[in-house]
Amino acid sequence: NADTAMYHAKATGRNNYKYFQPVMNEAAAQHFELESNLRNALARDQFSLTYQPIMDIGTRRLHAMEVLLRWRRNEQDLVLPDCFIPIIEENGLIVPIGEWVIRQACEQSMAWLRAGFMPVPLAVNLSARQFMHGGLVASVRRILDETGIDPALLEFEITETALMQHGEQTQEILEQINAMGIRLSIDDFGTGYSSLAYLKRFPVKKIKIDRAFIKDLANSAEDRAIVAAIIALSGSLQLSVVAEGVENEGQYALLQRNGCQFAQGFLFSEPASHEEARLLLPRRDAVLAGV
Ligand code: C2E
Ligand code: MG
Ligand code: MG
Ligand code: MG
Repeated sequence: NADTAMYHAKATGRNNYKYFQPVMNEAAAQHFELESNLRNALARDQFSLTYQPIMDIGTRRLHAMEVLLRWRRNEQDLVLPDCFIPIIEENGLIVPIGEWVIRQACEQSMAWLRAGFMPVPLAVNLSARQFMHGGLVASVRRILDETGIDPALLEFEITETALMQHGEQTQEILEQINAMGIRLSIDDFGTGYSSLAYLKRFPVKKIKIDRAFIKDLANSAEDRAIVAAIIALSGSLQLSVVAEGVENEGQYALLQRNGCQFAQGFLFSEPASHEEARLLLPRRDAVLAGV
C-alpha cells in the first residue's frame, strides 16, 4: 500500500528506490495479470456479444445490428473493448477471439431465424491483425458452411486506418470476402489519416461516420459541413451511409434533413444482450400478416 511504502521510503532515507520500484511494478503486474486472464478467457467462456440496432432514418425501422464484444472478467467486472482489444491485438489473441465473435454472431443470427424472427444483418468489427493472419478467408468460409448463414446477413466493419496498413494484401482479402457475398463497411470514417482513393480501390458498400462528427452537430457549423459532405460523397459513390453516436432527436432531425440513410446510437438503444436484442426484432408471421 502506498502509505506504508511512502513511510518506508522516508524511514530508510536514501534507499528510497524501495518506494519507486513497487509502484512501477504495479502497472506492469496489472498488465501481466490482464493478459494472462485474457489467455484463459475464451476457454472460460467469459466473452459475450451485445447487439446495437442501426435504424433506417426514413422509416425508423431496424436496418441491422452491430455486434459488440464484452468480457466478463469476473463477477464484478464487465470489461469494454477499448480496455482489452489493444492487448489482444498486440499478442495475437484477436485471431481466435475474433473468429469466435464471427461464429457466435452467425449462430445467433441462425437461432433468431429458427425462432421465427425476420432476418436482420449483423455487422461484426474486424481488426487489422485479423487480415494479416493468413487464415481469415478460410475460417470465414468454414463458419458460413457450418452455420448455414446467408452471407448477405453478415457485414464486416473495418476502420480506414486498418485498411491502409497492408494495402496489397488487404485488397486481395477484401475482394475474396466481397466475392463470398459479405458486405464491407468503413468504420469511424473521417478519423483516420487516409486518402479517399481507397473508396474506389476496395469493395466497400457502406460508410459509418464517426461519432466525433455527430456529437456537436447542433452547435458546430463545421461538423455539419463535414457530415453533409460525407453524405453527399456516399451518395455519389452509391455507398450507404450510417451516422454513429446519435444520442438525441436534434441530431436525428439534422441527419434526416441532410439525407443520411441510417443512424446508430443511444437514442435508439445501447448495446443490448441477445435477450434484449431479440425484443427489437420483428416477427416473420407478424410481418407477413401485415401487422
Ligand atoms: P465501434 O465499432 O466504432 O463501435 C461503436 C462504439 O460506440 C461502441 O463502443 C458503442 O457502444 C459506442 N456507442 C454507440 N452508440 C453510442 C452513442 O450514442 N454515444 C456514445 N458515446 N457511444 C456510443 P464499444 O462497444 O465500447 O466498442 C468500442 C470499440 O471496440 C468499437 O468501436 C470497435 O472498434 C471495437 N470492438 C468492439 N467489438 C469488437 C470485436 O468483436 N472485434 C474487434 N476487432 N473490435 C471490436
Ligand atoms: Mg464498428
Ligand atoms: Mg465506429
Ligand atoms: Mg470506434
